[in-house]
Amino acid sequence: MRGIKWLHNKEEVDESMIRIEHLNFGWLHKPPLPPASCHCLLILSGDEAVLVDTGIGMHDVHDPQRRIGSDAIDAAGFKFLPDVTAIRQLESRGIAASAVTDIVLTHCDSDHVGGLADFPAARVHLASEEKENLDAGNPRYTPFQFSHGPDWETYSENDSDMLGLPSRRVSTSTDVDIRLVPLFGHTNGHCGVAINHEAAWMLHVGDAYYLRDELTNEHHPISDLATLRADNNDLRMETLDNLRHLTRQSVDLTYFGYHDITELPDNIPLLEDVA
Ligand SMILES: [Zn+2]
Repeated sequence: MRGIKWLHNKEEVDESMIRIEHLNFGWLHKPPLPPASCHCLLILSGDEAVLVDTGIGMHDVHDPQRRIGSDAIDAAGFKFLPDVTAIRQLESRGIAASAVTDIVLTHCDSDHVGGLADFPAARVHLASEEKENLDAGNPRYTPFQFSHGPDWETYSENDSDMLGLPSRRVSTSTDVDIRLVPLFGHTNGHCGVAINHEAAWMLHVGDAYYLRDELTNEHHPISDLATLRADNNDLRMETLDNLRHLTRQSVDLTYFGYHDITELPDNIPLLEDVA
């Protein structure tokens, strides 16, 4: 079925069937830093759903020590809030876990992959460089969060262009035009996720920046943390420069990252409302 849909021409895609929602699937708070969100996307196409990143999942809520570990929980200030998990928020929208056919990951850090195990039937898409980084045992990742055995699909080839940046077409069960955009540095295979919808681009930059202000302030204080957390800081800086260049152009682009709460839609409850 995947193969047949793949053959559709772009013109045949009924965009009225596609809806994209911005949701927050987790909270981190490590004062004096401001609270950080887990800004994910829910893409609905007919009866099928695609997630971009998964936040802090229900398995994390039930067994945080084993899945994430006290050091990481403490270092990032993880909050374990059942009602904020993806599975709970989808249920409250009447969307069954089985409707989630595909999950596209920016990277494999624990605050992005916690919800994977709540959707074990979904195919999980990511850059091959990121999967190799995970398989190589990079200690930043937490193997328990993958112990259910995700159905991986990796992409290694830049086969397309997204507003001047190389991109990789992601093949999901839906007709939505989704791309992985290499934004390496934070991790070795970290990607943005771009979606072409209604003739405009939306780019989730993941953790390419923590705060949007980093695009305009080259000496933002959060840079110290970003440097510390980067697998490859030179690449991270290069990525940030590419994003600065892209977002200064007057192109029709909506962009946002994972952790900056100022980029969440107004209707999303903040940490003080849910904790
Ligand atoms: Zn993150």
